[in-house]
Amino acid sequence: MNSRTLILLLLGILGVLTGLARQQPAAHAPETVPLGPHTAATRTESRPEEICAVCRQPVGSEGVAYEAEGHRIVLHRHELASDSAAQLRGLIRQLRPRGAFLGTSAEYGSLSWVWFFTGLYVLAGLGFAALCAHRAMHTGHRPVPWFFAGLFFTAFAYLLLLTRRRRTVAAPAGIPRGLGKFATTLPSQPCPGCGALNHPAANRCSGCGGKLDPRVESEAARVLSPLN
Ligand SMILES: [Zn+2]
Ligand SMILES: [Zn+2]
Repeated sequence: MNSRTLILLLLGILGVLTGLARQQPAAHAPETVPLGPHTAATRTESRPEEICAVCRQPVGSEGVAYEAEGHRIVLHRHELASDSAAQLRGLIRQLRPRGAFLGTSAEYGSLSWVWFFTGLYVLAGLGFAALCAHRAMHTGHRPVPWFFAGLFFTAFAYLLLLTRRRRTVAAPAGIPRGLGKFATTLPSQPCPGCGALNHPAANRCSGCGGKLDPRVESEAARVLSPLN
């Protein structure tokens, strides 16, 4: 082997190596990136002055551009993620104007509607759960099962509860009728004998000890009454 063939051989090896080196980044930046069942991003040349979508710096000679769904994504070659499809989908979503719910991707649009109605259902469930529990408590029904009925079946549970007969509230299950409302403060009544102010439910004057006509039934008597 003479020196001439040796040089040619070395140049050949060098050429192959530089070729491989040039091919290497291309392996990281695929020609097409599938984004969905019917869409794919296609790689094109980037201009040096274009801004990288990841780091917001000009890409220079290190850029790669993809075109998909009428959008152009430019980024640094080394910033292209191994899951380039997920990365490009995310970058396209950022470019899309806010509120374009039913825009280019029907899949994305329908998904946000699913979330919207799920949220609405949960809100309605909580509202009707509270309504059912409140009404059940005041009509002699068990509030906890009705709370959950309202949570899952919303208005249907409440309508069903409206058709239920009002039952007498039994103390262990519900609350005594006398305590089921806000306690009211009644004005004091003057004693006809001495003029001292007494509680309207008092049957004896606190001033002179004389007998009084109670104006109202006392709360304690109402709660303790066996008729309740
Ligand atoms: Zn960058
Ligand atoms: Zn008195």
